[in-house]
Amino acid sequence: MADRYLSFTGTASGRFLTRRLGLPQPAALRRWSPGAPGLDGGLLHLTAGTPDLDLAPVLARTGLGTDDATGRPAAVVLDAAGIRDVEGLAEVHAALHPVVRSVAASGRIVVLGAPLDPADHHQAAAQQALEGFVRSLGKEIGRGRTVNLVRLTDAPAAESTLRFLLSPRSAYVSGQVIEVGAHQPVAPEDGDRPLAGRTALVTGAARGIGEAVAETLARDGARVVVLDVPRAEQDARRVAERLGGTALPLDITAADAGARIADALPDGLDVLVHNAGITRDRRLVNMPAERWGPVLEVNLASVLRTTDALLAAGALRRGGRIVATASIAGIAGNAGQTNYGASKAGVVGLVRSLAPRALAEHGVTVNAVAPGFIETRMTAAVPLLIREAGRRMNSLAQGGLPVDVAETTAWLAHPASGAVNGQVVRVCGQSLLGA
Ligand code: NAD
Repeated sequence: MADRYLSFTGTASGRFLTRRLGLPQPAALRRWSPGAPGLDGGLLHLTAGTPDLDLAPVLARTGLGTDDATGRPAAVVLDAAGIRDVEGLAEVHAALHPVVRSVAASGRIVVLGAPLDPADHHQAAAQQALEGFVRSLGKEIGRGRTVNLVRLTDAPAAESTLRFLLSPRSAYVSGQVIEVGAHQPVAPEDGDRPLAGRTALVTGAARGIGEAVAETLARDGARVVVLDVPRAEQDARRVAERLGGTALPLDITAADAGARIADALPDGLDVLVHNAGITRDRRLVNMPAERWGPVLEVNLASVLRTTDALLAAGALRRGGRIVATASIAGIAGNAGQTNYGASKAGVVGLVRSLAPRALAEHGVTVNAVAPGFIETRMTAAVPLLIREAGRRMNSLAQGGLPVDVAETTAWLAHPASGAVNGQVVRVCGQSLLGA
């Protein structure tokens, strides 16, 4: 369903009128395309505190020039990882205050921080302060610009994350705090097709977000397996054929779904995307068990069951990736969605608990994407006023597209993203609901 308000505010008269009325001002977001894969403009590298990260070589590989002659940088990276006390925060202000206005439309600000030191509450206070700073700047900056915080200890391990955040691929990711560990990155042989030679299975991929995920992983070189319920087999085959992959008609709630996936992929699997999901909305007071059970079963129980079965069978190869799908409804809660919110919060719990063990025992990372309002058939069915509220109630004042979730999944699935583990990344344009 087209966002007519976004089109209207893109015209001169629409801009004039909506400004006069104090209405939201969504900007058309710059997304990745083969002809324009990078941001338009240079990168400004700033520091606050005493920097000890060797960032220059990593930033040089983002493809963004550092000698920006226009005075309008497309990206600003502020290294604030060395800040250990409140006094250091003045340097954050001093670094960004003079440049924030000049950042180009659809530009990026990435603040780099350090993990909180449990033995130093002054460092912890200063580093936690960066989170409130980033989230507040994201809410006020406008013009399609995003602001994110990356907590890291090692620059090379964070390269894939920085490349994602400093590119048009992260158009709808703002106000996020991403922790990157120290795992040694594996550089793909072919930077344009990082998933070449790998197999990715996406559940619920016959349409919507799952279809976009399959398409983006195929673009990145993966052989995709399009899993969906048997009644959607025709659509699944259509998607698989278009992407040169295969369809797997299977209800993910089947008790033996994990074994059947393992049987269908005798050579193993590299990327497992748990995307299939359903809603059965109703307030708890009116919700019979028949509307509760299926939502928990599809969105959570089957995710746990198939993950356990595939890990136990050794079907996920070392260097593998699991990406589950949560939702902002599982973080902020949503009226009428006690079942759905519970199931999606459960996904967050699964990711946080399993991630360190899956990496240690199987060499597999486990992360989640948490979409906000994404323009799909699911959200097109929402009544007009609620749909409009959903679209506007985020810092970018518009809904996201399935490709925004897909690009985030592709970053998590990237061979060089091994240091990103146990993260729940919201793809919600910094929804005003929830943290
Ligand atoms: P969608 O309804 O368009 O697509 C879901 C797909 O999952 C369908 O093809 C469906 O057939 C499949 N599916 C459902 N039950 C299945 C089962 N038992 N086995 C196999 N496949 C099954 O939904 P979407 O909007 O593309 O959402 C995809 C995911 O993103 C879901 O997990 C959803 O909860 C989540 N999400 C969506 C939004 C949004 O705004 N659209 C927001 C937050 C989270």
